[in-house]
Amino acid sequence: MSNRTPATPAPDGSKTAVSAPETDISTSSEPAVRPSNPIKTPTLGLPLTDALSRVSKKPFGIKVSPGHSPVSPERFSGSHTGVDFEIQPGEENSDVPVSAICDGSVLATRRVSGYGGVLVQNCTIEKQTVTVLYGHLKLSSMKLKSGDTIKKAEHIGILGAAYSYDTDGERKHLHLSIHNGDKIVYLGYAQKESDLSSWLDFIKLYK
Ligand SMILES: [Zn+2]
Repeated sequence: MSNRTPATPAPDGSKTAVSAPETDISTSSEPAVRPSNPIKTPTLGLPLTDALSRVSKKPFGIKVSPGHSPVSPERFSGSHTGVDFEIQPGEENSDVPVSAICDGSVLATRRVSGYGGVLVQNCTIEKQTVTVLYGHLKLSSMKLKSGDTIKKAEHIGILGAAYSYDTDGERKHLHLSIHNGDKIVYLGYAQKESDLSSWLDFIKLYK
């Protein structure tokens, strides 16, 4: 709404006087107090309890190589396409349940080199179709099948044991990646940093 509109004709047909210099008073009509810190409800669910505090080794996009990595030994090179969530003390030998971060349907449950057990689902995040990959899951714990519908926060399986078939020899942790589009892309590390642009950072989307 602008207050710069020409003076409205007075009922008698004459123009009202506009002698004062025009000043824009539109801003003064705005509410004096705006909500400065609106509470935003995340649209995504957390894949693990306390998930945000578990991102201590490999955040999204971190560049690693066998000679330079927060984990040792490291066999991969490139820019991390997902977020790694670590286990907490005491969880080494206990079941760590993994939950879906969004509604969608299951696209795949299978074993993939580099991950061990993997579940991939599709979903819509901020109006974009994406695929979500959960890596290093215990294969026998995944009861969902390709085509099953899945709800946010639904249990999808538990983490595979450290250095096992289910984690393909990796430590016990969850690799979670979100890729644009509806094609399944299993790549855990992008060789060119620019290729990372087709993946999304869960942490940024969640906050
Ligand atoms: Zn990872």
